[in-house]
Amino acid sequence: MFSYEEIKTIRKQFPILKKNNIIYFDNAATTQKPFKVINAITKYYCNFNSNVNRSFHFLGKISTNYLELSRNNIQSFINAKSREEIIFTSGTTESINLIAYGLYQFIKKSDEIIISHSEHHSNIIPWQVLSQKKKANLKFIPVNSEGELNLRIFNKIITKKTKVISISHVTNTFGIINPIKQLIKTAHKYKSLVLIDGSQAISHITIDVQNLDCDFYVFSSHKMYGPTGIGILYGKKQVLDKFPPYQCGGGIIEKVTLKKTIFSGLPFKLEAGTPNLAGIIGTNKALNFLGNYSIRKINTYETKLLKYALKILSNIKAIKIYYKNSQLTKILSFNIENIHSFDLGQLLNNYGIAVRTGKHCAQPIMDYLKINGTIRISFAIYNTIEEIDIFYNYLIKCLSCFYPR
Ligand code: PLP
Repeated sequence: MFSYEEIKTIRKQFPILKKNNIIYFDNAATTQKPFKVINAITKYYCNFNSNVNRSFHFLGKISTNYLELSRNNIQSFINAKSREEIIFTSGTTESINLIAYGLYQFIKKSDEIIISHSEHHSNIIPWQVLSQKKKANLKFIPVNSEGELNLRIFNKIITKKTKVISISHVTNTFGIINPIKQLIKTAHKYKSLVLIDGSQAISHITIDVQNLDCDFYVFSSHKMYGPTGIGILYGKKQVLDKFPPYQCGGGIIEKVTLKKTIFSGLPFKLEAGTPNLAGIIGTNKALNFLGNYSIRKINTYETKLLKYALKILSNIKAIKIYYKNSQLTKILSFNIENIHSFDLGQLLNNYGIAVRTGKHCAQPIMDYLKINGTIRISFAIYNTIEEIDIFYNYLIKCLSCFYPR
C-alpha cells in the first residue's frame, strides 16, 4: 500500500495537478500524464525525430530502435508470446475496427457474434456493421440486477455458429470486472474467437494474455498515463497471420509493381503509413512509470479509495450506487433521486471537481436500465482520500441547492 508521502511524491510528477486547482475524478475517460511521458515526447522531437523502418541514416536508426524497443516492452507488459503479436493503432476504437475488418472474410451468413449489453459504443458499432453487411446474427449477453453479465444466458446463446465474442474486461459505466477467463474457456469449447476490450483494465489489473488465452486484447495508451492517439492491439499470431492489411500504403510491403503487391509479415502488415512514433515512445515511458509502482500496488490503493468513496457516499439517503455488491475497480457510478447527472456535474464543476456525467458512450445499457445517465467518478494513482472528502462536502453543498431545507 502507498504511504501518504509516496502519493505526495507521485502527485508532483503530474504537472497538470500542480497548475490547476482541480480534483480530477475523470480518469476512466483519460488519465493525466506524468513529466516522464511528456518529456520523452519533447525529447523525441528535439533530438531524434525521423521516420522509421525506411530512413537508414543515424536518426532513422535511433527512431526505429525506439519503436521496436517499445514493442518489446509492451509484449512483456502483457506477456504476449511474440513481438509480432503487438500492433500499434490509434486507440481501442481503431483496434476493434481493425479486428472486425480482419474477420470480415471469415464471417458468413447466419454466423453469430456475441457482445454484452454493457459495452462501450466502440465495441458495439463495428459488430453491428459487420453483422449487417454479412447477414450474421448479433447476440447480446444481458446483465443481472447487480450489473454483472448473466452467464446462464450466455451459456444458452453461444452455439457452434458463434464466431466472435467481444467483451470488455472492466465496464466503463460501472467499473464491473467481467469474468473473462470463464467466458474465454467456454467460447473456445465452441471454437469462437474472443476479443477483450481492456481499456478500463490495463492500468489496474495485471494482464497476462497467454494465461487468459484470449485471441485479442486491446487498449489505449491515454488511459494508462500515456499519450492520446495511440493504441495497442494484441492478437494471437496464427489469427493475425490470416488478416489482410487493414489499410494499404508504405511500410507494409515486400515488393510493389504496378500490377501487384507482396505484403510484409506481422506486425508491419497491419501498420501502414508513418506510425505515431511520439505516441509510441510516450507509451513506453508510461509503462516505465507503471513499472515503478506495480499494477498490484496501484490496484490495492485504488480499491482503498473506491471503498472509502462507497462508504461515505452511502450516507446520502437519496443516492443509488451502481453496483456496490459487485466486484468493482476504480469506477463508481451513481445517481441522486430526481436530479439529472448533467445538473449535478455542472455544479461540481463550479467547485473545480471534474466528474463524468451522462451515458458514458454506452447508451444501450442506460436504455436497458431506463436511466438517462449517471455521475461517474473514477480514480487513478494520484487521487487521495482527502480529495474524496472535499468532493463529498461539495456534493452535499450542491445537493442543498436541489433539496433546500
Ligand atoms: N472501450 C471502453 C471500455 C472504453 O472505456 C473506451 C473509452 O472510454 C473505449 C473503448 C474507446 O477508447 P478510445 O476512445 O481510446 O479508442
